Amino acid sequence: MTEFYNKLLAVSSSGHVQIDEEMKKHTTFRVGGPASYYVSPGNEEELAAVIKLCRQEGVEYFILGNGSNLLVSDSGFDGVVISMSEGFSSCQADPDQQLVTAGSGCLLSKIASEALKASLTGFEFASGIPGTLGGAVVMNAGAYGGEMKHVMEYVRVLTSEGEPLMLTAGELEMGYRTSIVRKNNYIVVEAGIRLKPGSQETIKSCMADLADRRRTKQPLEYPSGGSTFKRPEGHFAGKLIEEAGLRGYQVGGAQVSEKHCGFVINKDHATAAEIMQLCQDIRQRVKSNSGVELEMEVKTLGRF
Ligand code: FAD
Repeated sequence: MTEFYNKLLAVSSSGHVQIDEEMKKHTTFRVGGPASYYVSPGNEEELAAVIKLCRQEGVEYFILGNGSNLLVSDSGFDGVVISMSEGFSSCQADPDQQLVTAGSGCLLSKIASEALKASLTGFEFASGIPGTLGGAVVMNAGAYGGEMKHVMEYVRVLTSEGEPLMLTAGELEMGYRTSIVRKNNYIVVEAGIRLKPGSQETIKSCMADLADRRRTKQPLEYPSGGSTFKRPEGHFAGKLIEEAGLRGYQVGGAQVSEKHCGFVINKDHATAAEIMQLCQDIRQRVKSNSGVELEMEVKTLGRF
């Protein structure tokens, strides 16, 4: 084992450190080669120590939520993937304070179900987004008219130097798929979500209705990274892709979903390279058909 591995083990004693961990196990696209190191810090102190160690040793790191907006290269990532899913998955809903407090690795579906149990409304929009709270804050995730920025009370982060910082809602600068967290490379540790009292029946039926809409419209039966491209001003990416004649267009095992052209799916054992090639073809064909430049919403990790 390398000296760096031993140092990593020493600073993340309650977490786990894996070597050459296949990232396809940790992304909803189900593709991605090995990360040199994969660590799940058990708490904030360990997270800060891992960050500081990486900086000292000049080793790159990447913060992983649920990997639902992520395409990892087939050759993997030469650095440390820091998973937030294990050590930061707490969630408490307080009906009196009308506040849900959760760790950044907590799944949005879990937060929505805790909010429902506490009869708190306002988070239904996020119940079907398959990401963690941290990933959703960074991206200002949104769906069906709701956005994270409408419900944030505060966010606790570590800076890229591993120092703690508290941000109020007004300091988050959340916009379309962006925030101060992304701009400054902060790491979300915990967040407070401000909701309102509501009826359990209404919350439940709203969540069921949104889940139904997703099942009908989205290719949930295949691995994907959700909407592959950002919504260009004044357009819908899926419509532009369809108009460019790309419904069902395939590169190897990667395909433009026949059900929803805004989704690139892993139809049949696709590689990350095939998915990337498909995305490049889409961008080129849409640009020549409509003049619109599509921008990737899905993040990439590793060399392409
Ligand atoms: P990851 O994919 O793990 O990471 C995404 C980015 O966030 C990376 O840059 C990562 O470094 C960063 N990150 C993750 N956690 C942290 C943290 N704690 N601190 C700092 N940075 C962090 N998105 C929507 O907005 N609306 C939708 O309706 C929607 N529907 C989807 C449907 C499907 C079927 C799928 C597969 C995806 C969908 N998505 C949607 C995309 C995705 O679920 C969201 O972008 C989600 O917020 C990503 O969260 P994650 O935890 O999976 O992040």
